[in-house]
Amino acid sequence: MTSKPTATFDDGLPEALRFHSPTALVDIGANLTHDSFARDLDAVIQRARAANVATMILTGTDREHAEQAVTLARRWPGLYATAGVHPHDASQWNAELERVMRDLHREPEVVAVGECGLDFNRNFSSPADQERAFEAQLGLAVESGLPLFIHERDAGPRMLEILKAWRDDIGHAVIHCFTGDRATLYGYLDLDLHIGFTGWICDERRGHHLREQVNEIPLTRLMVETDCPYLLPRNLPAKLKGRRHEPALLPWIVREIAHWRGITEAELAIATTATACAFFRLPDAVHLAEDS
Ligand SMILES: [Zn+2]
Repeated sequence: MTSKPTATFDDGLPEALRFHSPTALVDIGANLTHDSFARDLDAVIQRARAANVATMILTGTDREHAEQAVTLARRWPGLYATAGVHPHDASQWNAELERVMRDLHREPEVVAVGECGLDFNRNFSSPADQERAFEAQLGLAVESGLPLFIHERDAGPRMLEILKAWRDDIGHAVIHCFTGDRATLYGYLDLDLHIGFTGWICDERRGHHLREQVNEIPLTRLMVETDCPYLLPRNLPAKLKGRRHEPALLPWIVREIAHWRGITEAELAIATTATACAFFRLPDAVHLAEDS
């Protein structure tokens, strides 16, 4: 995601927000290398563990953030990294950056290629540059055999065309923070892609369509993510206006999705965690939260 969070620093979470998932969750998209986490990252990770979110995939959106994500993943068990170049930064793509990314993809902490993709909502890089950087990273995913962590905003039709052309060569791929329409969703599911859901579904103003669509995604294809510090869910029972989102709040997103699917939070947690462990080839995610 891209919108700038308001930088407010406060320790801990209000009591009303300390909500422990009944079973271990995997946050597949946490931007913990964002500056807003620099001051209290240890506490953020402890709170996540206390909420039963012990496994986090840290999103690497450019060279600097991917390298930081790898460093953090070395330091904490349960943390893993992705390494890629976000479509906003696609104009930076060159042979040197491709070499750096190829090396990062060999690190054992790196579990996916990305965040990469297309964002025609803002076009911070030109669409031509975005496609060039994205296709180069699809090539790196083929080379490394890693799954893909894909960002798509307002670019569904073009994304589908590109992924159709590459589908036989790439392995698993997740469209993270899915916010698109039903036709796009079915296009992705027809290509046997995975779908990441964030707190967007908790937003009654713009997430309404997702409440029906989430029922149509097989649980073997659905994963959950905060995309923190962005996208603070709007279903929180205590006011956190302008506050930073963090992995400890993932259970609130799971609660909302479980509600709209008509299943229990535990059923959804078990299913999405199993899907994430298989997708990212993680060791069992269950034990970490229990020891902390
Ligand atoms: Zn994104």
